[in-house]
Amino acid sequence: MNWALALHGGAGAMARESYEREEMHMRALLDDGVEMLSRGKNAVEVVTEMVAALEASGFHVAGKGAGPNAIGEYELDAAIMDGRARAAGAVAALQGFISPIRIARAVMEDTPHVMLVGNGAAAFARAREFPEVGDPVAYYTPARSGLPGEGKTGVGTVGCVARDLLGNLAAATSTGGIKGKLPGRVGDSPVIGAGCWADKRVAISCTGLGEFFIRANVAADVSARMAYARQTLEQATRGALDDMVKLGGDGGLIAVDAECNIATPFTSPGMKRAWATGTGIKEVKTFR
Ligand code: ASP
Repeated sequence: MNWALALHGGAGAMARESYEREEMHMRALLDDGVEMLSRGKNAVEVVTEMVAALEASGFHVAGKGAGPNAIGEYELDAAIMDGRARAAGAVAALQGFISPIRIARAVMEDTPHVMLVGNGAAAFARAREFPEVGDPVAYYTPARSGLPGEGKTGVGTVGCVARDLLGNLAAATSTGGIKGKLPGRVGDSPVIGAGCWADKRVAISCTGLGEFFIRANVAADVSARMAYARQTLEQATRGALDDMVKLGGDGGLIAVDAECNIATPFTSPGMKRAWATGTGIKEVKTFR
């Protein structure tokens, strides 16, 4: 059974805290993902469902668990990429919708565009009748996450990468962004190549201080290192993260390649993550 799956709930896990509840939820979610992939569901479908469930959980800084920006508004970002044809869809600074990842997928599948932002993204989602949050203050339950300065994080993005039975790769990333961000600020998560990437070689979803991930183009750099420098997945993910850290950033990523190898490196104190393969590996971890 040649498939592989990895999930993350962000690099904002704080040392000395317990993440038992989050880990239990991830374990159950991993079981659902394993079931889908082993039954032959395609990678795009699986990453969408996994990320939508992470958004709905309220346990991470994405979907229901997103935090407000500096003026108390909830602006969310998400992206999805299908490695087969490098099709991609993203939304940024989107307000008012329950599942940004489902809207990003609709941008990929139903429009000639890659990214919709702000009011345009909201109008698109409304026209397609995606479920709305109603009163944001009543809906959102901001998840705990490391504060900037405390392990230099303040993050809790969610993501998923998958390699399906046919060998297709896909990646999805969704976030509420950095705590207290300026209105209109967009991080790496919806930026194709920075916080989300999939091609025929590898699929990546990142988490951490987005500005640095954008400047280091981390997700696409992993694939480039594998293609041009013939690095292994392990070497490429480490190398791409090291380059980002040199700029002063912090965070982690999950990645799966066409051979079903999985890597989940991070430079932060912890990163909520889980992974499974068709060869029987199943792991859920927050710290080392
Ligand atoms: N990368 C995200 C951002 O900068 C934050 C996170 O990983 O939680 O928006």
